[in-house]
Amino acid sequence: MRKLHSYASVAAALTSIALLSARADAQAVAQRVAQPAHPMASTERPGTQGKHNNAASSYTFIHMADTQFGFFSTPLLIAWLGRGWNSDAFSRETVLFERAVERARDYSPAFAVMCGDLINVAGHEGQAKEFLRIRDRLADEVPFYLMPGNHDVGNKPTPESLAWYRATFGKDWYSFRHQMTHAIVLNSSLVRTPDAVPDEAEAQMRWLRAELAIARDQPTDQLFVFMHYPLFLAEPDEPSSYFNIPIEQRAGLLALFERFEVTAVFAGHYHRNAEGHAGKMAMITTGAVGRPMGGAQSGIRVVEVSSDRIEHRYVVIEDPAP
Ligand SMILES: [Zn+2]
Repeated sequence: MRKLHSYASVAAALTSIALLSARADAQAVAQRVAQPAHPMASTERPGTQGKHNNAASSYTFIHMADTQFGFFSTPLLIAWLGRGWNSDAFSRETVLFERAVERARDYSPAFAVMCGDLINVAGHEGQAKEFLRIRDRLADEVPFYLMPGNHDVGNKPTPESLAWYRATFGKDWYSFRHQMTHAIVLNSSLVRTPDAVPDEAEAQMRWLRAELAIARDQPTDQLFVFMHYPLFLAEPDEPSSYFNIPIEQRAGLLALFERFEVTAVFAGHYHRNAEGHAGKMAMITTGAVGRPMGGAQSGIRVVEVSSDRIEHRYVVIEDPAP
């Protein structure tokens, strides 16, 4: 009994520490994060105006993240401890994602992108099936691009978790073009925690370098990168944390992205909005379609793209059970 007591005390103490440190992180970040101006935040790309007048980009796309089917019904304690919670209960995520897809349609987007954590538990067929059922409502009309987050392939991806993701959702790193936008989609879990799949991580980096060169050699006025983990939330040199790419891997990617003039990186994982800049490159982190954190609200980001700028705003989706 005493032993049980002491385990319980240690667990309670660890939980308090985890909660306090997560809160302190969130508060510190909240102070640093520059919120996008209301109603549209814009990022200009100086020097590009009129560069490619023939077929310049001008369109709208929808950026989403973290539907994370099954997260609402996961006890917070379990979530903070990083444990899986094998839940078949996800009706709240269903309503939010259905509403997000309906709202996305209002903007007649050229395409939509979901930046990972589609589901809460990697390998959960029920969560995946429900995500795909709703995704297809929009994907039947416009391209809807997906990529994995840590919840889709595990905090440390393995050959098995990658194989399951690919068989269920498709490729985890690839590129696409729309008008004069070149878009690169990354599996950022291979950047952050490649320990169990070093060959996969190296293959993605080789492909990324080649892909950036391809973008440079084509008439491109916007070069976007989509990934689950934000490179950083507010400042390119902010300390490593649960919510960003560790500073060592981040420095390598930032140097590469600067060299190839990446216009903007879009990410999720933070379950609330954040924005920062590294030189001319915007780092835009979008809140969750599913369960928000830190007092945020569920929503989607509407991004208007033209040849020399992007403008974007976060549109709140009403939660059926706030
Ligand atoms: Zn995540």
